[in-house]
Amino acid sequence: MIFEGLSDRLQGALSKLKSKGKLTDKDVKDAMREVKLALLEADVNFKVVKDFIKTVQERCVGQEVMESLTPAQHVVKIVNEELTSLMGDVQSKIVISPKPPTVIMMVGLQGAGKTTTSGKLGGYFKKQGKKPLLVACDIYRPAAIKQLQVVGEKLDIPVFNMGDKESPINIAKAGLSHAIKNNNDLVIIDTAGRLHIDETLMDELKSIKSEVRPHEILLVVDSMTGQDAVNVAESFNEALGVDGVVLTKLDGDTRGGAALSIRAVTQKPIKFIGMGEKLDDLEPFHPDRMASRILG
Ligand code: GDP
Repeated sequence: MIFEGLSDRLQGALSKLKSKGKLTDKDVKDAMREVKLALLEADVNFKVVKDFIKTVQERCVGQEVMESLTPAQHVVKIVNEELTSLMGDVQSKIVISPKPPTVIMMVGLQGAGKTTTSGKLGGYFKKQGKKPLLVACDIYRPAAIKQLQVVGEKLDIPVFNMGDKESPINIAKAGLSHAIKNNNDLVIIDTAGRLHIDETLMDELKSIKSEVRPHEILLVVDSMTGQDAVNVAESFNEALGVDGVVLTKLDGDTRGGAALSIRAVTQKPIKFIGMGEKLDDLEPFHPDRMASRILG
């Protein structure tokens, strides 16, 4: 189950409070110490944890909680609200351009789930009545183009490709023209990734960005890589400027550190989460629902 460890520990720390009537400052402090350990163990960014605990503690020792008839429930409510706030408060949607096509550029490291997510996203919007086109710009990874074609076939979504001899910038531009000609109102560009962030990769992505002017740059990161995912997000955002994050493989993430840190560290919202390998395993990200899921 996702976030199993974190859920158990947080619930454990907070349920201890429930056995008490009135809470003392010490009760709250002890509970916060456990919440802090739970978050650190879940691989949440250290500074994020520190700020989070400070805010929650300040709110919990306030009059409202201490004088309430059900103080423990109040503490849980505050933790829930602050977890929600940490993840961005409200759902952050992809903005559809009033002048079609809306262009989404997918970026990320190799293996993060970019190609799969490009397909999933196409499928998600197709269900909403859009006419997507997938554009294959990952010319370096062997079989990436074929993989996108297979995904497109499964979803009955067209895939534009020019093989692996043309430059990704030209492919992206030609893909956009193709979409306009064929009345595709959504273009999803699957770009190349590398094993590590390097200048060549960023330069290529910057060129595609400046040539096709995407409405949205979505960064795909693997949640299982924890704080590495957060660092990757920071680097991509600094070099390229991203509009949002898709956090993949959350179905296998028992810790949750990336989900809880990315927004606070990068100020960029998680827009979607990948919850499995199947092409419909993509969900819009709702910070409030996720907080409630964690707190059980
Ligand atoms: P790319 O190199 O970034 O294009 O990555 P791929 O799209 O090829 O994905 C790499 C691997 O991760 C594949 O085996 C995918 O099936 C898998 N994958 C992608 N998203 C998810 C997800 O949300 N959950 C799980 N369990 N696997 C995923």
